Amino acid sequence: MKTKIAVANGDGIGPEIMDAVLKIFSAANVDLEYEFVEMGKSYFDAGHSTGMTEQAKATIENLGILFKGPMETPKGKGVKSINVTARKVWNTYANQRDFRTLNGVDTVFSKAGMNINITIIRENIEDTYGGIEHMITNDVAVGRRIITRPGSAQVIRYAFEMAKRKGLKKLACGHKANIMKLTDGIFLETFYEIAKEYPQIEVSDIIVDDLCMKLVSRPELFESIVLTNLQGDIVSDLCAGLVGGLGFAPSANIGDNISIFEAVHGTAPDIAGRGIANPTALLLSGISMLRFLGLTENAASIENSLLYTLEQGVHTGDFGDRSTQSVNTQGFADAIIANL
Ligand code: NAD
Repeated sequence: MKTKIAVANGDGIGPEIMDAVLKIFSAANVDLEYEFVEMGKSYFDAGHSTGMTEQAKATIENLGILFKGPMETPKGKGVKSINVTARKVWNTYANQRDFRTLNGVDTVFSKAGMNINITIIRENIEDTYGGIEHMITNDVAVGRRIITRPGSAQVIRYAFEMAKRKGLKKLACGHKANIMKLTDGIFLETFYEIAKEYPQIEVSDIIVDDLCMKLVSRPELFESIVLTNLQGDIVSDLCAGLVGGLGFAPSANIGDNISIFEAVHGTAPDIAGRGIANPTALLLSGISMLRFLGLTENAASIENSLLYTLEQGVHTGDFGDRSTQSVNTQGFADAIIANL
């Protein structure tokens, strides 16, 4: 029987890139069935405070996997992002982002012959993302940062298990425990506590500012890094820059019952509706979803075709190098399909 997953097209460029990715899946005979769910900014505007209908919520909870396009964050004070709400509602506590050099995607590192291969695991629920803020006076705002031992433990354990599964030798903990002694202190303590269960993995910790400096000067020092939510958010975008930008950054939000696969970038309102968006990040997220579901052959064949297509110099227009062959979203998908 085919595995069924929930799919939300998303807003802005979402429907365009999702259509391209599902066409590639179909051409590769991916053994999946899709149930499209009602989720996104228009459902928020229609009065659904979580940005999804009850039916969509029930479907996602029943199927356990959501493959989603980017969703616009409704504007206004006190209004939460649909994406952040979804991660919280379903306790997808670990955000995994794999960054690696893609042949054909030129960066300062690839030009210097350096290969980047770094996995960032970011805590996805706690920290300042609770949005607990208030004004004390007109001129003074206060925000709360919440870090718990159980919340830290579940993401850190995930990071160690991920490193073990991938056969990685090193896991580092990025933090600012020298200044935030209690909050980052708990995270760091929990890291070393859990590390005792994984003696085969070489562990280290590094203050986040030093980490940023080393990532841009000596990225080869790192294999995998686990961080709290806000620091992980910033460091993972930095890593996206190392491999060519947000267009090449996949993301998996992993929970015990529900996991969400999506691109790191947003709805790109400036180019939405023009059919020129780069579907690579969503496709890479889809490939990691296929691996997560055990569809490893499908994942490998699509990945090889994507890498070959990039290597051929077939790119969407958002690439810095204009000398390569620029195609639109559909043209890029067609090239990948032709190379399958
Ligand atoms: P963005 O990522 O949408 O766009 C930033 C820049 O990158 C724009 O110039 C855009 O054209 C470009 N870009 C992004 N993705 C691209 C792609 N696939 N191909 C080519 N170019 C691409 O960031 P933003 O403008 O700050 O956010 C727009 C909306 O998206 C906001 O409402 C934001 O809250 C939301 N957002 C959603 C998610 C998510 O769904 N997970 C993530 C980030 C932002």
